[in-house]
Amino acid sequence: MRSFVLADPLDFDGWREAARRLRLAGVEPAEVRFVVGHSRGDLFDEAAALPEVEGAFNAPRAFMETAAQLIQHRSENRFDLMYRLLWRLKDQPDLLNVLSDQDVAEAADRVKAVRRAAHKMKAFVRFRQAEDEAGEHWVAWFEPAHRVLQATAPFFVRRFSAMRWTILTPDGSAHWNGEALDCRPAAEQAQAPTEDAMEDFWRTYYASTFNPARLRPQAMQSEMPKRYWKNLPEAALIPELMAAASVRTEAMVTRPTSRPNDRFQRVRAPVVDRAATDDLAPESLDELARGVQGCRRCPLWRDATQGVCGEGPKRAALMVVGEQPGDQEDLVGRPFAGPAGRLLGAAFEEAGLNRRDLYLTNAVKHFKHEPRGKRRLHKTPNAGEVQACRWWLDHERRLVKPRLILALGATAGLAVLGRKPAVQAERGRVMTTADGARVLLTVHPAYLLRLPDPARRDSERARFLADLAAASAQF
Ligand code: SF4
Repeated sequence: MRSFVLADPLDFDGWREAARRLRLAGVEPAEVRFVVGHSRGDLFDEAAALPEVEGAFNAPRAFMETAAQLIQHRSENRFDLMYRLLWRLKDQPDLLNVLSDQDVAEAADRVKAVRRAAHKMKAFVRFRQAEDEAGEHWVAWFEPAHRVLQATAPFFVRRFSAMRWTILTPDGSAHWNGEALDCRPAAEQAQAPTEDAMEDFWRTYYASTFNPARLRPQAMQSEMPKRYWKNLPEAALIPELMAAASVRTEAMVTRPTSRPNDRFQRVRAPVVDRAATDDLAPESLDELARGVQGCRRCPLWRDATQGVCGEGPKRAALMVVGEQPGDQEDLVGRPFAGPAGRLLGAAFEEAGLNRRDLYLTNAVKHFKHEPRGKRRLHKTPNAGEVQACRWWLDHERRLVKPRLILALGATAGLAVLGRKPAVQAERGRVMTTADGARVLLTVHPAYLLRLPDPARRDSERARFLADLAAASAQF
């Protein structure tokens, strides 16, 4: 038996070169064992030299795809299994179609386990908010069942391309700075933040989607295996929700029938359609926020994760109104949490405004978008949707009573002024609405992000700062 050393557990290139030479030299699988780096210190010194051979051969594409996934499996003998399959393909080109074959079946089981680990990683990574010298940074600790981090990281790049994030695992870490993905050595859990303001969101979200009538503990643990619970904020609720399930099921059975697909209604908020809301008036911002979760005044609630209400002091002197929550705001449930929000926060600082003193909200409370592959592309709300949601904005204005409203962009202008404004012509000066509110209009920060020409972007940013400074002087 000869042992060959690979550089690391995912050293596919090293294995491929060794396997090529061994097969060309006629070295049978039973004579070969692959080991990784120093994982077998005693064998390292005995590692055999690879035979010097000339020539090449083609391995079937299906085998290469299988091998690329098999290598992520944690079993120590996965490289040996890969070589055995490669060796046997020489005489049995259709081997991979023989599902009754023991090696093929073993490989299929392991590939399935790797795919499942990747799927669980996509579902159960939970980023927590942190800060570093460059600002906001999202960090997650995750312990995948197999070594799927490198293969799965591009999914997170596509999904969270606008955030700076890091995923730490015992096998390695992946870092995305907004432009490039960097994979580095193994990390320790102590490097990850343990808690942030998002914990409550995940717990609330899980509680709101937990249906006790459908509780099947075995199926639930298959979908959310216990090994992942310790890093999931919402998992802390599972024992409690399971214990309360029978009581809640009974209550659901005796309750009047509810409308389908109203997931927030079940736990968090009664449905409030247009007819119902016109006669109601929320008495506090908390009540208003609960009402938005059950709102059916327009169709936008259907495809959104949640309604996103305003946040800030109850008596803020300046209310800032944007267009609608974006992809990230929809997920985290807070306004201006995405790239445009970060640009706005920086501009506030330059204009001498403290974000914590301001009430930030949007004209429309649910995210309007259309799917494009795995992405959700922003769509501008139409006039009917803005009009429907204006009911909520008007109540926010009534409750906060700001001295000045800063409207960001045409949609916010429409919601506040009741007419579509000419933003460039009307920006930067205080207008008074029919109900006496003072409004200053400027562009939406997303407009600045979309400008391709750096010189134009700089000049538009300067105009934006001047508008913010004008607002700052008016309240
Ligand atoms: Fe209601 Fe506004 Fe959501 Fe439409 S966008 S469902 S009006 S909260």
